[in-house]
Formats: sequence, structure tokens, C-alpha cells
Amino acid sequence: MNVPVPFSSIYRADGDIAYGRDGNAAWEAFEEVIGLLEGGSAVCFASGMAAISAVLETLPAGAKVVAPADAYSGTRRFLADAAARRRLSVQLTDVGDTQATLGACSGASLLWLESPTNPLMTIADISALCDGGHALGASVVVDNTFATPLLQRPLELGADVVVHSVSKFLSGHSDLIMGVAVTRDPGWLDQLRSRRSLHGGIPGVLDAFLALRGVRTLVLRIERSQASASELARRLDTHPEVRVVHYPGLPADPGHALAARQMRGFGAMLSFEVAGGREAADLVCASVKVCVHGTSLGGVETLIERRQRWAGEESLPPGLLRLSVGIEDVEDLWSDLEAALATR
Ligand SMILES: *Cc1c(COP(=O)(O)O)cnc(C)c1O
Repeated sequence: MNVPVPFSSIYRADGDIAYGRDGNAAWEAFEEVIGLLEGGSAVCFASGMAAISAVLETLPAGAKVVAPADAYSGTRRFLADAAARRRLSVQLTDVGDTQATLGACSGASLLWLESPTNPLMTIADISALCDGGHALGASVVVDNTFATPLLQRPLELGADVVVHSVSKFLSGHSDLIMGVAVTRDPGWLDQLRSRRSLHGGIPGVLDAFLALRGVRTLVLRIERSQASASELARRLDTHPEVRVVHYPGLPADPGHALAARQMRGFGAMLSFEVAGGREAADLVCASVKVCVHGTSLGGVETLIERRQRWAGEESLPPGLLRLSVGIEDVEDLWSDLEAALATR
């Protein structure tokens, strides 16, 4: 039933696979499942960043990329580095504003999207941006890490490539780092496979096995985490110590109507701003006992962190806390957060 993990770098010359950097049965089993979930062909990588850099490294020197101003910090750092070396020209935009984003796309080779964005949970109109971007000659890539293919299928909305950090919801147990890119376009598929072989950003076979094991419970984890996230967002929204909650599932959230159309659920990520600002937010992080104070997301445990503590995140409100909701009992999470918010 389970795919045997091929601990072999070499293969006998009469088989399909010559060398382990080009393919193996453990990757193929994982790629088959992710390809089916996203509706395309998947290529797995050593990390989300390896998948992201493989996509961006397909671009010719001097190509223009339009990306979210609040994209994943690693993607932003990659683009800033490429811009500093004049490899790429980069324009950052608010992807929640379709007109402004398409305005930035003239002359662009690639439009990079995330939705919901990190950590302000902005919703981008993926199908309008794919149509508009394509009309301007740009390929469109969506980082679907926050939503997962269970809640959002960007290839169906017109995207050329979807990327994921498998380290997050897909594997789901905070025990490995891996990435994947998915496409329906044979040209892109070819490019992605050759980037992986040329750059060598390949995952280990055991990680591919563990990631596939994680994916088997994705639907259960997402259902549970999403239900809890929605309940916590609702309660935080009326809490006197909370200034604002960013969660597309809240009816008053600016992205609510679009997310309701575009997604099959609002996900397990949310952020909220503590009224007392930076000190109060730090106190919440130091006081939680059920939630874990730490970065990253998408695991079975609930993670909380103050995003503005990171370099490159200075423009965020100092009191903004990001919550990746896990699978614990929602009442345990709520009493933990309530007690932490009451700490003086
Ligand atoms: C974590 C993350 C990445 C990077 O993935 P790694 O597996 O850590 O390299 C990319 N995009 C998003 C949205 C992420 O959360």
C-alpha cells in the first residue's frame, strides 16, 4: 500500500530512471497526489524557496516581475537580491487592487500572486488578474501555501504555475522542509524539471514519503483548523483588547465576498492587532501556554508570532499577531488566548 522508499542514488541501466537527481518512485508518488489535487503536473523541490527560485530562474536576464508588496518574505528577499544584481526588474504592488496590479504589469514577463497574503490576509482576484496579466503577455504564478488546493485551485482560475511550501499545511507536522510547483503547461513542466536537475534543489526520498503521509490527513486537519480559526476570529473580533482581526471569513472583512467566490473555505490563518501595540503583543506571545510562540505555519500545533519583529516587516503594525491555527480543542485555544490577552 505504501510506496517503498528508494534509498538509492543509482539505478541499473535497463530501467526508466538513471540517477536519483532526475527522479525516483518516492517523488513520483507525492507528485501524483499533488498534481491531482491542483489539477496539473507536479514537480517537487528541496523547499518552498527551491520551487520559487526554480520558477523565477526560468526568466531571462532583465525580465520584469510584478509581485505582492506583502509577499512571503523569502520571495521578496529573492526578488530584491535579483533586482540588486540587475538580473530581474521588480515592481511591488497591492494585489488586493486589481487595477493597480494590472497597471504595474505592462512590459512584465511574470505576475507573482499570493492570496490570502501574509500576514494581512489580503485577497487577490486570481481569475481577473490571470486574464488581465495574460492579455499583457505576463505568465501568472500563484503561491498557494496559505490556502492549499483543498480551498483554492489557481490553475482552474487561469494561473500558469502554482507553488507551495510543502513544509506548511501539505506535510502538516512541522517535521520537514520541502516544496512543489504544479503546472498544466508542457513548456513550464519541462522548464521546472530541468531547473530541478540543473540547480540540484532536490528533496530527500524520506521527506517525500513523510510529506505524502502528511497529505493523507490534509482534509481532516484543514477542516478542524479552519473551523477553529473561524471561531477564534469571531471571538477575537469582539474582544476589547483587539483592535482589528484580519480573516476573510469575517463578513465585514474587505476580502470576504471575493474569498467566498474564489475559495472553498477561508482557511486556518488569521492575524489580529492587539490594542496595546508592541508591548502588549509581546506579552501575549510570552504568556500563551497552549499556542506555541514561534514562526512558520500549517502544522497541527497553533503558532503565534508578532510579525513586525522580523527584518523586512517594518511596515506592519507593531501590535500585529499572526496565528496559524492547529488542531487542538478550540476551547483550550480560546482560554489560552483570553488569559494571554488579560496579562498585564
Ligand atoms: C514558508 C513559505 C514559503 C517558503 O517555503 P520553505 O519550504 O520554507 O522554503 C513560501 N511561501 C509561503 C507563503 C510560505 O509560507
